[in-house]
Amino acid sequence: MLGNLLACQWFGPKCKFCGASLSAGKVHTAEGFDVCHECDRHAVRDLRTAQALVAEVRTEIVKFGIKLPWGAIPIKLAPSDNSAVHARCEAARYADGRVASIWIRFMPGMPKPMFKATAAHELTHAWAYLSRSPMKQDEALSEGAPTLLEYNYLERNPSVYGEHRRNAIMTSSNKSYGKGARRLQAYAKDHGGLAGVLTLLKTGQTIPQGY
Ligand SMILES: [Zn+2]
Ligand SMILES: [Zn+2]
Repeated sequence: MLGNLLACQWFGPKCKFCGASLSAGKVHTAEGFDVCHECDRHAVRDLRTAQALVAEVRTEIVKFGIKLPWGAIPIKLAPSDNSAVHARCEAARYADGRVASIWIRFMPGMPKPMFKATAAHELTHAWAYLSRSPMKQDEALSEGAPTLLEYNYLERNPSVYGEHRRNAIMTSSNKSYGKGARRLQAYAKDHGGLAGVLTLLKTGQTIPQGY
């Protein structure tokens, strides 16, 4: 009995987004993912909802020091070639770093808590570009900082998805999305918290040695 229970708990199918067990039932979404009912119920699939949520997150991240010097940022809701890429902030920039145009593309079907945390991450990229961050920046910094922002956002806005995602960030062996974020978390402790990390993102090429 116990063996079965453990097997079910640890090896059973899990929701693609929040990591919850799918043993109580699952939904195969239009996007082709197996998710729990909760994640399906809160899926963001229309552009107006996406735009409203991004505007909401944009206000929420001001308290983290992200103030975007720009009007509305165009939002696209479209699948990507790579299903592991949930969203992307794309900017066309001049050689001196100025932004000519910028937009954020989200994969349709993400549950709301995931969509919002992803928006916090992508808006941090937008903020860095619009603040003319260095064109050639080490990925551990350029991806680590938005991921750390996302981590902090999820901490303030708890959800089942958030717990799953924060754990992934803290344990991932990925050089940028895992280790980069954790190196910057250590950097933050010695450099005035998240504000110090954002200054580094805006002006630095790499995370300094020793972190
Ligand atoms: Zn779920
Ligand atoms: Zn990113």
